[in-house]
This record gives sequence, C-alpha cells and structure tokens, in this order.
Amino acid sequence: MTKTTPMMAQYQKIKDQYPDAFLFYRLGDFYEMFNEDAVKGSQILELTLTTRSHSAKNPIPMCGVPHRAVQSYIDILVDQGYKVAICEQMEDPKLAKGMVKREVIQLVTPGTQTDTGAAGAKRNNYLTALTLTSPGNFGLAYTDLSTGELKAAEIQGDDAVVNELMGLQTKEVVVDETVPEALRARLKQLGMMISKQFEVQESAELSYVQQDLKTAPLQRVVAVLVTYVTVTQKRSLAHLQRAVAYQPASFLKMDHSSQTNLEITQNLRTKKKSGTLLWLLDETKTAMGGRLLKQWLDRPLIDRKAIETRQAKVGVLLDHYFERSNLQAELVKVYDLERLAGRVAFGSVNGRDLIQLQTSLEQVPQIEHTIADLGESVFNETLKHLDPVEDVAAAIRAAIVPEPPLSVTDGGVIRDGYNDQLDQYRDAMRHGKNWLAELEAHEREVTGINNLKIGYNHVFGYYIEVTKVNLSKLPTDRYERKQTLANAERFSTPELKEKESLILEAEEKSVALEYQLFANLRETVKQAIKRLQKLAAIIASLDVLQSFAVVSEDYHFVKPELVTGHDLEIKQGRHPVVEKVLGRQSYVPNDVRMNDETNILLITGPNMSGKSTYMRQLALTVIMAQMGCFVPAEAAQMPIFDQIFTRIGAADDLISGQSTFMVEMQEANRALSHATANSLILFDEIGRGTATYDGMALAQAIIEYVHNRVHAKTLFSTHYHELTALEDSLKQLRNVHVGAVEQDGDLVFLHQMQPGPADKSYGIHVAKLAGMPEQLLKRADVILTDLEESAAEKPVVATPVADSATEETPQESTSVSAPSTSEKTTEPEPIDGDDQQLSLFTDE
Ligand code: ADP
Repeated sequence: MTKTTPMMAQYQKIKDQYPDAFLFYRLGDFYEMFNEDAVKGSQILELTLTTRSHSAKNPIPMCGVPHRAVQSYIDILVDQGYKVAICEQMEDPKLAKGMVKREVIQLVTPGTQTDTGAAGAKRNNYLTALTLTSPGNFGLAYTDLSTGELKAAEIQGDDAVVNELMGLQTKEVVVDETVPEALRARLKQLGMMISKQFEVQESAELSYVQQDLKTAPLQRVVAVLVTYVTVTQKRSLAHLQRAVAYQPASFLKMDHSSQTNLEITQNLRTKKKSGTLLWLLDETKTAMGGRLLKQWLDRPLIDRKAIETRQAKVGVLLDHYFERSNLQAELVKVYDLERLAGRVAFGSVNGRDLIQLQTSLEQVPQIEHTIADLGESVFNETLKHLDPVEDVAAAIRAAIVPEPPLSVTDGGVIRDGYNDQLDQYRDAMRHGKNWLAELEAHEREVTGINNLKIGYNHVFGYYIEVTKVNLSKLPTDRYERKQTLANAERFSTPELKEKESLILEAEEKSVALEYQLFANLRETVKQAIKRLQKLAAIIASLDVLQSFAVVSEDYHFVKPELVTGHDLEIKQGRHPVVEKVLGRQSYVPNDVRMNDETNILLITGPNMSGKSTYMRQLALTVIMAQMGCFVPAEAAQMPIFDQIFTRIGAADDLISGQSTFMVEMQEANRALSHATANSLILFDEIGRGTATYDGMALAQAIIEYVHNRVHAKTLFSTHYHELTALEDSLKQLRNVHVGAVEQDGDLVFLHQMQPGPADKSYGIHVAKLAGMPEQLLKRADVILTDLEESAAEKPVVATPVADSATEETPQESTSVSAPSTSEKTTEPEPIDGDDQQLSLFTDE
C-alpha cells in the first residue's frame, strides 16, 4: 500500500474537479503537473519528465514549468485544443499552518483565451453556447471575452447552426444536455471543442447582460454562456456588454462554403488572409476597426437605409482627402480600447495599459474636430454619440507617470504630487538614501578604507562591505558581521540598522500605497467601461469607413445604386482581388446585365478563360455593395440580394467522408430549396462530377427548376454546349460566352464576355498549354473525333429528365436536342466571329 502525502491528497482533490483539463499546480516558483497530465504535458511541451518520491514503489510522474513563463505554455496547450486549470497558492507558504491553501483561479479554454497576442489583434475569439429550445430549434449565443461583445440568436436547423458556428470561427461550444449527440459529433469533426454547461447561476452580471433579451430561449442560452464564463474565469466580467439579439435573416445570408469558396476572409490554398477580399479592403488603422471590418464582411446588410448611410459616409470621406488623412493620423494613435477595457474589468491592466488608454482617449477630441470639419449631416449621429471620456483620460494623466514599469506591485507607477502620504514616504526614502551616501563617505574617512561601500540585498538588507585585505583596518566595536563572501565581508552598524528600518518601512509602505492608489484608479476606469465600449464601437466604425474610402479611391471603385426592382447592370465590372494581383492594366473588365426578362446567364467558354472569375466577381461586387463599400466597376445598379448561394470551382470538402459529387449535389440542393427571387446563385460546372449524360441531364433539370420555380438571379457555367440550346425554350435564360481565339493552333484567352454561346470545347488546347506531350495530344484529338462521331448518332439529353422537370413546372419545358456535334467540329475558325475586335486583346 502506498501512503498518499497530504500534498498529493490536496492535488488529487482539486484534480478530480477538473478531469478534462491539465492542472497546473503551483508549488513555489513552479507550476507542476502530475501523473497522466505530466506524461502527456511533458510530451506536448517538451519538458523533462521526472518523478516525485523516487524511493516509493510507485513514483509519481511529474513535470513543471517556471511560473514566470507559464503563459506561453498555457497558450501552446490551449491552441492545441486543451483546457488548463491554473491552481494557485492562496496564502503565503511562510505563514501557512499545515498545508498551503490552494485553489483553481482560472480555467483557460480555447474559447476563453484572451491573450491571443499581436497576431490575434484583428481577429475575434468567440466562445459560443448552444441550447435546444424545441426539436430543430436552437438558441445560440457568443461572446468575445477580450472585448465583451455578446450576441444571441434563435436559429432553425442543424445546418444553420453549423453554418453560424463556422462563420464565427468559434473554437469552443458550450452545449447543454439537450443538444443532440449527432450535432455535437458534427461540430467536433469540424474542429470545435465541445464543453459541457454548468448549472446556471443567477448573478448581477447575468441580469445586466440579459436586460434587452425578450424571449426565454435567448435568455436561457445567454445564461448558459455567462455561467460558463463565470465558473471558468472566476474574475470580474464587468466588461460584458448587454446581449444583443440578432437575426441571421437580417443580413445577406451566405453559407460557410460560399464564404470559403469566394475567399472572403481566408485564402483557399494558404488559409491566410492574403489574396482575400478582407486583405484587399483592409486599410484599417486600429485593431478594433480590423475586427469590425471582418464582422461586416461576414454579415453584409440587407436594409437599404443602413447600406445607404454607410455609402454616404464613405462618399464624404472619399471627397475630403485632407480630413481623411487627419482622421487616419489620429486613428493610428488609438490603441485597442475594447481589449483595454476588457483588461480593466479582469484587473489585469498595468500602468502601461493605462497610458495607452490615456493616449487613445486624447485623440478623441481631435477625431471629433475632424469629423465636425467635414460639415456633413450624415455624421451628425456619430458626433452626437461621441463621448471622449475625458474624465478618465484626466484621471490617468494625473496619477500615472508617463513611462510606468510593467509591474504594478513594485512601485514607480504613481506620479509625485498625486498623493501627500506617498510623497512623504518617498521623501523619507530619498533622505534615507542621501544619508546612506553620507554614511558611506564618513565611514571611508574614519576607517581609511577607500573602497568601503554600502549596498543592499533582499536577504540581508543594507550592509557595509569591506574587502578582506582591508579587514584589519576596521574598528571592532561598532561593526557586526552579517555575511562572508569569497574576498569580502559584510557588516552592519547600529546607525545603519536604524536608518535601514526607516528606509525599508517607507519603501514598503510607499509600494503598498502605490498599489492601492493604482487599484483605486483602476476602479474609476472600471466605472467607465460601458462608455469606453461605446466609444470603441464608434471609432471602429469610422475606421472601417475610412478604409472603404481609401480602397475606393486607390482601386477606382464607384458607388453602386441600389434599385428596388430586379434589374442588375454592372458596367465594366472587375474582380477586385484578381485585378490587384494581375495589375489594373492586365485585367479585362466585363459587364453583367440581367433584368426581369433575364434571370439566368448560361456561360460557356474554354477552361481557364475566366468563367469562374466572372461569377465570383459578381458575388464579391454584391457583398461589397451590401457592406456599404463602393464597387469595382464603372457604374453599377443592383437590387439588394437576400442570399448568395455558390457552387464554385475548388471542391474543398469540409464535411469529410463525402464524395465531391455528393457535396456538389448537397450545395446545389441547398440553393434550390432556399433561394428566392431575390437571391443570387452561382453554379460553376454543375454536374461535371459524374458521367457525361448523367451530369448533363442533371444540369439541364437544375436550370429548368431555377428558371421555372426559383427565379433567382443565376450564373451557370457549363462545358455542356448542348445546354446552350435551352435559350430557345427558357425565356429568361441568355447565353453568354468568354471569347478566345486560336492562333497558330494555340489558344488565346480574351477574358471577355460576349453574347451568345461558345462553339467549341477547348480542353485539348488547354492540355497543350499545360505542356502535355505532343503524342498524347494527338491521340486525344483522334479519340475526340471518334467520340463525336458516335455521339452524333443519338440525341444527347434523355427525355425523361426533361419530363420530370415539366411535371411540376407551370411552363411547358422542351427538352434540348443536342446540336449535332459533328457539325461543330467542321465549323470554321476563328470561333468568336469578330476577329478584328478580338485581336485588340491578344496583343497584351
Ligand atoms: P475558368 O473558370 O473559365 O476555368 P478562371 O475564371 O478560373 O477560368 O480564370 C482563369 C485565369 O484567367 C484566372 O486565374 C485569371 O488569372 C485569368 N482571368 C480570368 N478573368 C480575367 C479577366 N477578366 N481579366 C484578366 N485575366 C482574367
């Protein structure tokens, strides 16, 4: 039988409460891990694994990290999806009777991590809670603990929940027991940590944040969220904002795969920001602005007035170069007010943070001036609500030295003249130090030892140090030995002792008083947290608006006109990101025209000709317009869309385990079942993932379905040239194609949209461009001719498919008989007819 020491008993008792977390158990200057935590922790953190009580039969595995470096170790574990419980000594070990009291002071989890460093400054870290209110209906709430943002929504359906969580990029979801296991498993598979809720605790903070929530499901899910935060963080949550109820339907809806495919905030290949719409639009000067821009991108608006207000502000900033430059210069000096406010609430703010806060607040009157100078009524509301929180700036200015140390417990933070008592202590310390200098001079004189010196260390206090060679010169009566070094001895004298206690007492009291004063000031600032958050929101929004103005100017964007009907007309539109990468000169702008008579554009053209770029271009233009930004075109008129659905190119299969074709069909189905006449659908080569006829049949049926029942504005690109014949039977479908010409057997892309269908498939040409062997290409040519000859003998599209589509559709739908393919191959080159016009572009 092994006997458990009292310490290990205490450890085990605490560990039992946090079975799924690494327990960092404070032991002097280290945090120790034991048992399985130690084995696993030593591997992940590359620490040396040792044992406790070596002699025992079953030594306990152990490893530790120094307390000063603990944050980096916690970050590593949490970034890898673990939780860390920090267990502190709650009393001074020197004074403790028996076992030192220990408690867990914080449970750090992926969703509650607030020290995300500089890299995370422009990103939110959301913790989400999920409850089931009735079958299929969910309550969802999320918060960013570093900023105090808190939002809640009621959401229908598993898919919508997954979508919302993916959109938030939440790393951790707190679920109550009602959330179905299947959904939990799905979220886990998508890389989210699933944490169990704690029994809901009522608190003043909870009541505060719940104030504006009208429905029980919303209140409940916020209670689950706030309780989880309270239980794990065990610290002030004064910065949590009143929960805002939102409805996903009040924003332009895009599912997560669309956002991914369109590379809104994340590059498909690199997973980074570079090459995305966010990357293009981000000229923000503050971290708050950066985060808000991302939020706006994730949730473009559908409310006309709100969009037009943003547009108007961008317009004003665009027209006032001088004021805009001033605004930028001022914004640069504004630190992260939201996160500073968060640190104030947590009590983790230090002197330097407060100076940052002061500096930031000092910019606000300037910003106010600049905005007022614009003289535009559209900013009246902004000005009305802009509270510079000057009292806080003044309080900090009066109290804190301009360059305070990092630590708030070692003194040197509070200004002279701020507090009489503190000044007196400091006086005593200064006098004491002068006196010590005098004493040193005096002792040198009487002993004749020139290198005699007075020093200080933490263990022995003040001492007089004399080198060994000089010891004989020392009078024996007054000098009392304190410490012996290799070649010197240290002494004290009665006079030194007396002054020492005066100095040390003054020092001790002054440090304690400084901390007290600092804490009082922190409390004052804490009272202003809500005002600081409001200010932060206004600054963030000004920052995003000026960023829009900058990019609109730099890249020649125009203000889109939002029309009430269904007319869409974009003149010389561009894909802003591709344009930025290729350079303005190399990008070929294109028009997009659709109105009540045209809902579907059927796009044909060779691979690599620019079909999917054209489709993405339209989606990005819509998103930019509905965020309130200007758009990359010469002129643009468009309706406000309610949703965007895409099935585009790169099949990145997020829900693993399903075939690409299955995902393709699922995405198409989502569009067909949820799209309205006010939606935008982008289908890129739907059907290509299966056998030709199969795919073509599906593609045609899908087009017919959209045409007859959904009426959404749709761009449909395809390789099935046979489908272009649909223009004859479907009134609202128009053919367009991307021009290309053959020159000396090579293919030259023009990247230009032209009316009508393309005539020929260019796959083999593209293969040639890719450098495939000559022999192989010749062989493909032969096979193609063979195939085309045999295909020409029977109609390509099977009738039953067309029939089934007709069944439910009001309109008579005709099946498309494939144009004879053998005819096509005999068509003369060049394909695009107008050779003259096209050669303009081939010169590039
Ligand atoms: P497709 O979908 O037809 O296969 P993409 O849209 O992927 O072709 O375009 C292929 C490449 O052509 C793009 O990566 C881009 O570099 C270039 N491109 C596309 N559209 C344009 C354009 N309008 N102007 C200039 N280059 C373009």
